[in-house]
Amino acid sequence: MLAADEMKKEETPLLKELTLIPGLKVKVGEPLARYTSMKIGGPADYLLEVENRAALVQALRLLSRYGIAFYLLGKGSNVLVSDLGVRGAVLRLGGEFKKVEWREENGEVLATVGAAYPVTQLVREGARRGYSGLEFAEGIPGSVGGALVMNAGAYGSEMEKIVDRIEGVTPTGESIQLDRREMFFSYRDSHLPSGAIVTEVRMRLSKEEVGVVSLRVRELVARRKKSQPSGYPNSGSMFRNPPGDFAGRLIEAAGLKGRRMGRAEISERHANFIVNLGGAKAEEVKRLMEIARAEVGKKFGIELEPEVRLLGEWPHGDFCS
Ligand SMILES: Cc1cc2nc3c(=O)[nH]c(=O)nc-3n(C[C@H](O)[C@H](O)[C@H](O)COP(=O)(O)OP(=O)(O)OC[C@H]3O[C@@H](n4cnc5c(N)ncnc54)[C@H](O)[C@@H]3O)c2cc1C
Repeated sequence: MLAADEMKKEETPLLKELTLIPGLKVKVGEPLARYTSMKIGGPADYLLEVENRAALVQALRLLSRYGIAFYLLGKGSNVLVSDLGVRGAVLRLGGEFKKVEWREENGEVLATVGAAYPVTQLVREGARRGYSGLEFAEGIPGSVGGALVMNAGAYGSEMEKIVDRIEGVTPTGESIQLDRREMFFSYRDSHLPSGAIVTEVRMRLSKEEVGVVSLRVRELVARRKKSQPSGYPNSGSMFRNPPGDFAGRLIEAAGLKGRRMGRAEISERHANFIVNLGGAKAEEVKRLMEIARAEVGKKFGIELEPEVRLLGEWPHGDFCS
């Protein structure tokens, strides 16, 4: 495959065909840093901004025909994109995937939400209507699709508790629908069929007093503010909590709070966060992750598993995959 800067100069047959798809915006060699919460990441050969389902299906079929790998990026709040960027295509959903529909039915509430909808916006809109069940997700800076895929959770709840049904497409553009009964979730994983793209999530919520739901949301905002670093770009928790313990506690106990590598730092506030002090490289963040893993392994005999997903080309190997 041609490097991103060579492709910019040359209109490849794939690029020609991609640009003909209505509802698809194509960017060549687009740096991904601006699309991630860490503000780190090199260029994608192709960044495809997808406005509707028809465009998604056409783009997937085309990529499959050309044998081009693709990755779905939500709001980029749980990924570390390599400095060399991503070979192949990165897809981002927008347009019609940013819709929400609320429906009350026999005392229950059904929220049908597009995968690109921001989680925190959904929580706040739900609270204003007195719909409860989503409060735990206040402050999770992802999209609804990303939250579903990661089975995002906090404060004793997680996505699996409210999901009723999802819609999506396979990597070759076929439709899939899964009911809750057909889905299996575990800690920070939704075990979806390989390569499936979530386009819509239906959630089952309940009705309560507006004031009660809003108060719970405000309390969780305060709790988050107290415990999490603010100010510097980050990707939330870098490692999963091992059974019966906390990754942050272990990394702190290994004496690593404040450890720096270039412009990346293991947060002084919460040791399971790595912050970008400004201009940090993905390799620096990855190196800190490796140090945390090695030190925790040596001191406590526990192997930390990354929660953040590594994306792109890693010249020194991708220990997370
Ligand atoms: C400050 C901060 C606080 C956080 N707090 C929490 C927390 O309390 N609890 C928690 O669980 N997480 C937390 N996170 C992590 C992150 O916000 C969640 O995992 C979030 O759900 C990721 O959503 P996203 O849209 O950003 O996904 P991305 O980071 O863009 O992607 C994550 C993974 O999901 C896949 N993906 C994304 N969208 C789709 C889709 N539509 N279809 C198929 N695959 C898709 C991607 O390919 C990737 O593998 C936090 C992150 C930050 C920065």
